[in-house]
Amino acid sequence: MIIFLDLPDVEVEGVEVAEEIILTLRTVSPMALCPSCGTASSRIQSHYTRTLRDLPSIGRPIRLIMHVRRFFCKKSTCAQKIFGERLPDLCRPHAQRTKRLQEALRQLGLTTGGQAGADLGSELGISGSRDTILRLIRQSEQSAPPEPHVIGLDDWAWKRRQRYGTLICDLERGWPIDLLPDRAVEMVEAWLRDHPSIDVVSRDGSSEYASAIKKGAPQARQVSDRWHLVKNLTACVSVQLAQCLTQIRRTEQAKADIGKDEQSSRQHYSHPRTRAERRTQQARQAERLARYEHITALFQQGMKSADIAAQTGMTERTIRRWLSRGDIPYSRPRRPRPRLIDPYKTYLLSRWHQGCHNGTQLESELRAKGYKGSQRAIYRYLETLEPSTRSLGKKGSASAMKQTASEKEFNPLLTLSAQQATWLFFRRPENLKKEELASLQLLRQLHPQVEMAYQLVEMFLQMVRKRTGEQLDDWLAAVQASHLEAFESFVTGVQQDKDAVLAGLTLPWSNGPLEGNVNRLKLLKRSMYGRAEVDLLKFRVLHHSKKSQERKKKKQGQQVIHLKKAESMKNGVNFQRTTTGISKVA
Ligand SMILES: [Zn+2]
Repeated sequence: MIIFLDLPDVEVEGVEVAEEIILTLRTVSPMALCPSCGTASSRIQSHYTRTLRDLPSIGRPIRLIMHVRRFFCKKSTCAQKIFGERLPDLCRPHAQRTKRLQEALRQLGLTTGGQAGADLGSELGISGSRDTILRLIRQSEQSAPPEPHVIGLDDWAWKRRQRYGTLICDLERGWPIDLLPDRAVEMVEAWLRDHPSIDVVSRDGSSEYASAIKKGAPQARQVSDRWHLVKNLTACVSVQLAQCLTQIRRTEQAKADIGKDEQSSRQHYSHPRTRAERRTQQARQAERLARYEHITALFQQGMKSADIAAQTGMTERTIRRWLSRGDIPYSRPRRPRPRLIDPYKTYLLSRWHQGCHNGTQLESELRAKGYKGSQRAIYRYLETLEPSTRSLGKKGSASAMKQTASEKEFNPLLTLSAQQATWLFFRRPENLKKEELASLQLLRQLHPQVEMAYQLVEMFLQMVRKRTGEQLDDWLAAVQASHLEAFESFVTGVQQDKDAVLAGLTLPWSNGPLEGNVNRLKLLKRSMYGRAEVDLLKFRVLHHSKKSQERKKKKQGQQVIHLKKAESMKNGVNFQRTTTGISKVA
């Protein structure tokens, strides 16, 4: 076995290969430098031995037994009379591990965490305890990253709804550059002030970040993130669609109720509620009524709401609300929960009308389609179909059958939740399945307002996808003309933040790269089992191995080419538009 020691002035005295490889080494340099004053000295005071662990070789851990020397310092004024010789290429003073072993442990820790790094290391023959690894991570010097020009800010939850931090990414390079333990204006503002090179900041719609940027980096252009914009728009549209769907449901319900009257007080099956449930609700209502009467009586006696609250054990706010209502507080019946069977109802109904009334057969068909609910739920639903069909059988007249069938025709929109309907609006039409396209078509025909909302959403998404922010004013005007209430809050938000929105719809920057990094942060945080402290978490989040940096750079290069292409295409469009404009004038 040949051992290469790339160290000058160190000689190998002996090699012992067993479970462990033990190398005995000796330093041979004629002189050493005093660490205090830097004077060279050749006067040896004594010898001693240092033991160092090194990276493993041929699967065995290596231990170095170093014979080193102490020297007298020649400088009479130096406080350090005697010094031990240093081996700066091999190890730090007083360390028990070589530099390269420390670096390996640090990398292990940064990638996998303290305990996991220690476990994995011991398997690989590079042993170090969890505490050693954490200490090495904390000691690591970080090279200052190049001054950023384009950054993105996003918040992340230390503890949901309680404590939030801020992750800052360099969007040009695509990696995180800092982690702040808070998202408060002062902290973000201070950070931005320390980085005057910043020209562009991408962020979500939060007013906190907006004001922090305004104060800390007034020179920077703010970009409202496109993803967050679209998310806010979906929330508005979803409200409108929910209202529409409720309308249809009410109409259907009214139809069903008429049918029920005709069928002379037949039990209503669509939302089966047990007698016990109904009784509970009646009891609750009676109790509330009694309480309300008690409160009004006390109030009429001239008692203040605070005293009433003390006497009845209710909160003062509730009492004031009840009194201001001036009538019996109304207890709403509970809304039916969505059932596993709901998405399959359309199918069941169509099979029923085709004449398949065999429960077992229908169940096996549903199971094949992926139904995971109970058998009882299927039968319960089939029961609701039964009465009308039975009466059909008795009547037997073909025309009556047709009429009832069309009356009973199932509106597929009834199976859609508001969220599913919203999703239909926002996905690219070419990605929709046939049934989804059909549902979308039906939805748009429901009401002119729904169609209008769809058109507005389409226009907005076009701006987002093609980054044609110059159409924003036209879009805002179109929304104004539509008088759609649902868009009001969204438009107000856009108006208040218009410059940033415009930048978001025009510039290539977005918080896209941040989303991935926030996910990575969450993963790291969880892998530390809640013991994550800010400094350690920051080290791990900001750590990127050389390989991953290279990969990023390669990817970024491709993206730049892509962006350039998009830019030139956009210019082409602009050019065409101006030429048609000119030709019109001409
Ligand atoms: Zn000295």
